Amino acid sequence: MNTADIIAAVVAIEQAILAAENEIEALDRAIGDGDHFINVRRGCSVIAAMSGDLATRSPDEALTAIGAKLLSTIGGASGPLFASLFLAMGKTLKGNPEPSPRDLAAAFTAGVDAIRSRGKADVGEKTMLDVLIPVARLFDRLSGAAEPMESLCAALKEESLRGMLSTRDMIATKGRANFLGDRAIGHLDPGSKTCQVAIWAVCDLLTGTAPTLQRTA
Ligand code: ADP
Ligand code: MG
Repeated sequence: MNTADIIAAVVAIEQAILAAENEIEALDRAIGDGDHFINVRRGCSVIAAMSGDLATRSPDEALTAIGAKLLSTIGGASGPLFASLFLAMGKTLKGNPEPSPRDLAAAFTAGVDAIRSRGKADVGEKTMLDVLIPVARLFDRLSGAAEPMESLCAALKEESLRGMLSTRDMIATKGRANFLGDRAIGHLDPGSKTCQVAIWAVCDLLTGTAPTLQRTA
């Protein structure tokens, strides 16, 4: 992976997020305050606008710059959480000019751990971590086993979908949905939907698959 791959991933994520607007919007309207899609769209557009500047940087510098930008521009609970993911990935890949899938898995795991400590949350609390933690674990395991890209990506897509759908029957113990108690049951968590959409976008990019939308609302 090089910086051009990171930029291509950011562009693919932005397109996929825009295509999933209706679904993501509706989820935060149902169990949040309705701003999640706006926060994420803003994050995607400020990063996409940085592509020219990112292109001259090493992968770790690009990831760190993305994290710093998200931290300073995106509000809501999700902004600083996504910022910590990128900042920790940048830190882990420091001095690595061309990270391997294994390096990337280690960086993603560090990024997810950073979200976990910043948000003080874990699996089962109806947040983005219900997607990110299982996906990071699987990515780490499969990248160590030298899994071919096609099957690696198929497995990560499936795991992200499973994690996202698992939030439907949960009550939230973190974030705004936590104030709803039982009334959050039956609704998917918006942050977990955003993460599933982003993971699918990157996997589809890596395997040259036409982008796919998983309608779940
Ligand atoms: P806000 O809740 O401040 O309006 P957003 O709407 O942008 O922020 O993001 C909401 C999403 O953030 C939730 O759907 C959930 O996935 C995620 N989230 C909220 N709190 C936490 C937390 N403590 N740890 C991990 N993720 C969280
Ligand atoms: Mg919100």
